[in-house]
Amino acid sequence: MTDSKTFDLYLASDTDNPTAGTSIEYLAESYGDDIFQRLLNDLLNTDFSKQEATDFWHAAMRNFNEDSKRMNWRSVVLDYLLIRTDLLKNPRIIDAEELKHLQTEAVTDGLTNLYNQAHFKQRLATIIEEHSTDSDAVFSLIILDLDRFKQFNDRCGHLRGDRALEKIGKLIQSQIPKSALAARYGGEEFTVILPRTELSDAIEIAENIRAKVADTEFDGEDRLDSGKLTISGGIASYPIAGPTSADMITYADNKLYEAKVTRNSISPRANNSRQIIRHSYRSIVEICTPNSETFKNSLSADISHTGILLKSSSPAIVGTDMKLRFPYPFWPAEHSTNGQVKHIRRNGRRGAFMVGIEFLQPQNEFLEEILLR
Ligand code: GH3
Ligand code: MG
Ligand code: MG
Repeated sequence: MTDSKTFDLYLASDTDNPTAGTSIEYLAESYGDDIFQRLLNDLLNTDFSKQEATDFWHAAMRNFNEDSKRMNWRSVVLDYLLIRTDLLKNPRIIDAEELKHLQTEAVTDGLTNLYNQAHFKQRLATIIEEHSTDSDAVFSLIILDLDRFKQFNDRCGHLRGDRALEKIGKLIQSQIPKSALAARYGGEEFTVILPRTELSDAIEIAENIRAKVADTEFDGEDRLDSGKLTISGGIASYPIAGPTSADMITYADNKLYEAKVTRNSISPRANNSRQIIRHSYRSIVEICTPNSETFKNSLSADISHTGILLKSSSPAIVGTDMKLRFPYPFWPAEHSTNGQVKHIRRNGRRGAFMVGIEFLQPQNEFLEEILLR
C-alpha cells in the first residue's frame, strides 16, 4: 500500500494551486495505473475492479475540487461514495490496525493460533483452482488426528487436554515449511496444506510431526494406556487424489483411517520405509536384570517385532540387558526373551518411567500370535 501520509500531503498542497486532475495523473504515473484500485480496496475493504476504482476515484476527486478544499483523500472518497452513490449504506469507521486484528481473528483458531477450518477450506479451494490450469503442478494435504484423545481428556481433564492441543499446534507449526498452511480442522484434528510438495516429501514432513509428538512430553500422558500421547495422519497428493477439495479431504481421511489401525502412524508409508510398526498392547510384563532372580512387574505400552515400550515404577539404566517374561494368560502363551534398555523417559517428576527395550532376537512369531489373538 502507498504511504498514505505522503499521499495526503500531496493532495493537501495540491488544493491551493493546480487542479486535482493533475495530481491524479501524477499518482498513476508514480505508482502505476492500479493505484486507485489499491487505495480504494484498502480503504473500503472492497473488491473493485481497476476500471471501477479508477472511475470512482476520478469522480470523487472532481467532487473534491468543487466543494471540499480542506478535506483529505479519505474523507473525499468516503463523502463521495456515501452521498453521491449508493455504494455505502451504513459505513462504520474502524481503525486500520483494529480491522487487521479482526481479520486475523476471523481466520484464526483461538486455542492453537493455527488457521481455522473455514480459512483452511477457502485456501484449499484456491490452491485447487490454481492447479486446475497446470497439469504438472503438485501439492499435498495432511490430515492429523490425536490418538485416544478422549481417554486423555477423561483421565487428565479438559484443561490439560486444551494445553496439549496448544502444544501440538506449536509443534506442527515448527515442523512445516514457511510456505505451508496449518489449520485446526476441529476438535483434535489438524490439517496441513503443502504447496509444491509431492507425496514422498509430504510423508517425510508428516513423519517428523508424528515422531516429534511421540517424543514430546505432555502433562498427564502417563495416565494413558499407551503411556504417551501420539498422533496419526493421512496424506493426499494432488492430482492423484483430486480433482476436487472434497476428493482430497476424503482421500486423506481414508488414509488416516488406515493409520488408525496401529495408531502413532502415518499412511501411506514411504516406499523405502523400514519403519517398525508398533502395536499398542497393554499387559503385564515381568522384567529383571541378568544378575538378579527377582522379577518385577511392569506394564507394556506398545510392542513391535524388534522391541517393547514398558511403563515401570522403577528406573533402568540405558545399555543394561534385561530378561523379559510374558506371562499367560496376559499374553497368548507363556514366553521369555532377552533385550537391552535403549531409552528411558520419566513422565513428570513423580511419574512412571517409560523404558524402551530392544529385543536381542526379533520376535516375529510371538508378535504374530499376539496379533492373531
Ligand atoms: P482415536 O484414536 O480413534 O482418534 O480416538 P479419540 O479418542 O481421539 O477420538 P474421539 O473422536 O472418540 O474423541 C475425540 C476427543 O477429543 C473427544 C473430546 O473429548 C476431545 N476434544 C475435542 N475437542 C477438544 C477441545 O477443544 N479440547 C479438549 N480438551 N478436548 C477436545
Ligand atoms: Mg477425531
Ligand atoms: Mg482422535
